[in-house]
Amino acid sequence: MKTSLEHLKPLMRCSLCDHKYEPNKALLLEDQDGQTTFHVTCSSCGVSTMVFVSTGQFGVISMGVLTDLKGAEVKNLYGNEAISSDQVLDIHTFFKSFAGSVKEFI
Ligand SMILES: [Zn+2]
Repeated sequence: MKTSLEHLKPLMRCSLCDHKYEPNKALLLEDQDGQTTFHVTCSSCGVSTMVFVSTGQFGVISMGVLTDLKGAEVKNLYGNEAISSDQVLDIHTFFKSFAGSVKEFI
């Protein structure tokens, strides 16, 4: 059986140019409840990847997704709820009482 680190080996290299990532350049975004997410940028070609690692009863699942977001941008966006349920209700209430035309709205 593979250890958790062996599962991560394919993700420790850039999927574009195969350059080995520098671990100290990885930006940790989340590490709780068996979920680890980090952002890493290849020092060779500059392509960034979001890496998701989940540890559960079925073992370790890992996935890398290319992104054009820089580390600082991801850190700002990550963990923020895209749209809260309160915001959806606010918009619903707004449109329910909105009597104007689309032109006015824009
Ligand atoms: Zn690369």
